[in-house]
Amino acid sequence: MAAVLPGIVLVGRPNVGKSTLFNRLIRSNRAITHDRPGVTRDRMEGTVRRKGLPDFMVVDTGGITLDAHAAVTEGPEGIRGFEADILRQAEAAMKDACGVAFVVDARDGLLPLDEFLAAHVRRMGLPTLCVVNKVDGIEREDEQLAEFHALGFPVLAVSAEHGHNIRALVEELAALLPDAPDEDERAAGEADAPLRLAMLGRPNAGKSSLINALSGEERMIVSDVAGTTRDSVDVRFTKDGRDYVFVDTAGVRRRTRITDIVEKYSVNAAIKSTTKADVTLLTLDATEQVSQQDKRLMDLLDNRKIPFMVLINKCDLVPAGALRQLEKNVRQMLAFCGHVPILPVSALTGKGLEKILPLARTIHEECGVRVPTGQLNRAMEDVLARHQPPVVKRVRAKFFYLTQAETQPPTFVFFVSDAERVPESYARYLERSLRKIFGISHAPMRIRLRSSHKKDKK
Ligand code: GDP
Repeated sequence: MAAVLPGIVLVGRPNVGKSTLFNRLIRSNRAITHDRPGVTRDRMEGTVRRKGLPDFMVVDTGGITLDAHAAVTEGPEGIRGFEADILRQAEAAMKDACGVAFVVDARDGLLPLDEFLAAHVRRMGLPTLCVVNKVDGIEREDEQLAEFHALGFPVLAVSAEHGHNIRALVEELAALLPDAPDEDERAAGEADAPLRLAMLGRPNAGKSSLINALSGEERMIVSDVAGTTRDSVDVRFTKDGRDYVFVDTAGVRRRTRITDIVEKYSVNAAIKSTTKADVTLLTLDATEQVSQQDKRLMDLLDNRKIPFMVLINKCDLVPAGALRQLEKNVRQMLAFCGHVPILPVSALTGKGLEKILPLARTIHEECGVRVPTGQLNRAMEDVLARHQPPVVKRVRAKFFYLTQAETQPPTFVFFVSDAERVPESYARYLERSLRKIFGISHAPMRIRLRSSHKKDKK
């Protein structure tokens, strides 16, 4: 059973604290640890289990039989005697692994043997995190971490002995694991699955007309007469060799005999249909003011991170100036989600329609973006360098590293010293910057800030 779990290998020269770290990860005292360098150990394996994270194996490549410490500090000349031994073990373990925790010692600093081992680890091509152990206080942390960046792996400071940052370590290691197989299969199956679209908007905004114009088929009857709609559920069609389906179109045309149609426009029902779709199209009527319901709906879509675009339909009926004003109003309502596209269209004349489906595809693709860890941390450094976090209550939050926790939508987690000291405006700056760097212009995105010290400090 254990064999099927993906494994992370701890690699590092003797005495950097791999066994203590191993014990912390598997939460046991099973492995033998010893203050004296070079204590003999067999290769150890254990399962890492944490709430909310996938289980995985951790493998400790101990087993160094030489009293290595003196040689290590002597530099490249001195490492030849046992480098082969370390390497043989590490490489055997890495063959079966899906990621590497490359462990170094903050107190010793970066030693030649670290660099030597790191070069081999790099050659394996596995996702790797550099775990800087024995960082016991945060005061000198930046300074202590600095030189390890040279290894080219994302770095994380921990103290195995004091249990500092261990939760962050587990999360970061879990992020190195390949996606769960069912997710992979789904992604593969989705490659040629139709793009699912939901059409929302008040009655008479022109939703049916748009669906007809886009699908190029008279699947739905467009009429001003109440009750003429067939209860078709999905409208499937192919455009430029791609498959699409408008889901839940029965809801689109649930016409009402009640005069107060606004009341009938249920926001909750609308939200429900968006969950069945990849991308939602919210249709507004250019000849009308934006209603409170539309406003509420936009807020809800934004809040729930539902990928959507806004169509301003019937733009053939309003003069250019009025249309621009309306666009501006809608843009203002979407102030905190500037990524949402607003398209003036006309189901009647066909204006702007050709942009809708390609834009929907783009939004969907952006929702699935997954950024490799190395790129994430380089991006974080750039972003911080360009604009450092503000001082809040006399302290400036420190940013340690960045991971992508999820896709659909892309969710990025910044691990920081104190999330409460990162103001909303700075979080928005982070979002804008990541969007630019990773080319996520129209999909929703989540930015989370997690205090990693507080959490692990006992
Ligand atoms: P739904 O209730 O949102 O599905 O709206 P419909 O598609 O039934 O359209 C309501 C009315 O608006 C119909 O009379 C359509 O012919 C008309 N309509 C829809 N789109 C446009 C448009 O782009 N321009 C104009 N001038 N009329 C439109």
